[in-house]
Amino acid sequence: NSGAGRRGRFAPTPSGFLHLGNALAALLGWLQMRKAGGVFLLRIEDIDKPRCRPAFVEQIYRDMDWLGLDWDEGPGREGECGPYVQSERMGLYELALDKLLSSGRLYPCFCSRAELMAVASAPHGLASQGPAYPGLCRGLSEAERSAKAREKTPSLRFAMPDRPVSFEDGVLGKQTFPAPAGGDFVVRRADGIIGYQLAVVVDDASMGITDVLRGGDLLDSTPRQLALFEALGWTVPRYAHVPLIVGEDGRRLAKRHGSIALQALRESGTRPQQVIGLLAYLGGLLPEPEPMRAEELIEGFDLSLIPDHAVTLDQQAWQALA
Ligand code: GLU
Repeated sequence: NSGAGRRGRFAPTPSGFLHLGNALAALLGWLQMRKAGGVFLLRIEDIDKPRCRPAFVEQIYRDMDWLGLDWDEGPGREGECGPYVQSERMGLYELALDKLLSSGRLYPCFCSRAELMAVASAPHGLASQGPAYPGLCRGLSEAERSAKAREKTPSLRFAMPDRPVSFEDGVLGKQTFPAPAGGDFVVRRADGIIGYQLAVVVDDASMGITDVLRGGDLLDSTPRQLALFEALGWTVPRYAHVPLIVGEDGRRLAKRHGSIALQALRESGTRPQQVIGLLAYLGGLLPEPEPMRAEELIEGFDLSLIPDHAVTLDQQAWQALA
C-alpha cells in the first residue's frame, strides 16, 4: 500500500513526566503510521543530560504501554536501554558537526547570555526561543576569534541563510518564516552539549524518518531544521504540527491547570481508554470524548481532521477523565 516505506517517530525529552500534550502527539503519530502501514519509532531525547533523569525514561515506557502505543524497532524496553537514545549517539552528531564546519556553515560564538540580553531585541525571533541572535560574532576576523578563544571556550553557531523559509505543513498548510527565520542558532554549546536542532535533524535523517508529526510548540524550530537538512544535503521529511492543548485561561496546559501528567492520571485511577478518547476528541477524530482503545481509531485517522489551532481542555473534557 501507499504506506510502504513510511517512518514516523515520537521523540520525548525525559526532563519531566509525559503530559496530555505529549500524549496527543504520541497518539496521532502512532495512528498516522499504523494507518499507513508504516514504522513507528520511539526516540529518547536526552541529549541535554543534566536536565534528564532515568526515572522519567522509565515512566515514558510505562506511559506508552499504558496507552497501548507500541513501537517497532529497538532492542528492548528495560530500564534505560530504550530503542533509540540520543546520549548513545554522540558520534553521529560529531560527524555532522564536522561536515558543517568543513563546509563553512558554523562559526564560534563568544557571546554570553547577559551580553545578548543587553542587545536590543532583533526582529524575527522565535516565539519559543526569544529574539534572533543579532549576529555579533558572525563577522569576526580570524585574529579576533583567536584572541577571544584565549579567554573563553566558544559555542558553535549555524549561520542561517539570508532568505525566507517556507514549507507545507500537513496540518497547518503553507508556512513561511521571513529571513532570518529565527536567526543563527547554537549547534554545540560551550560546555560541549549538542543543540537540540542538530540532534533532531541527524536522528530524523539517519532513522529514515519520512513523517515528523509533533506538537505545535516545535513549529518554529522547523525552519532551522530545514536549513540544517539543506546544509547537510539530506532528504527532508514531511512535517505536521498538531495542536497545543491549552487551559480555559487560554494558556498552554501546565501544572497550574491540574494533574495532567499521565503518571498522575494513572495513579488517580483514570483508565487509559478515557485518556485516549479525550485525546482523540481534542485531536478532531471523535465528536465527543468517549472511551476508546488506540487501535479502534486507526481506521478513521486522517491528518485533515486535526484542528489547525490550539484546543481547550475545558470542563467537559476534564469530565471525560473523571
Ligand atoms: N524532544 C522534543 C520535545 O520533547 C521533541 C522533538 C521533536 O519531536 O522534534 O519537545
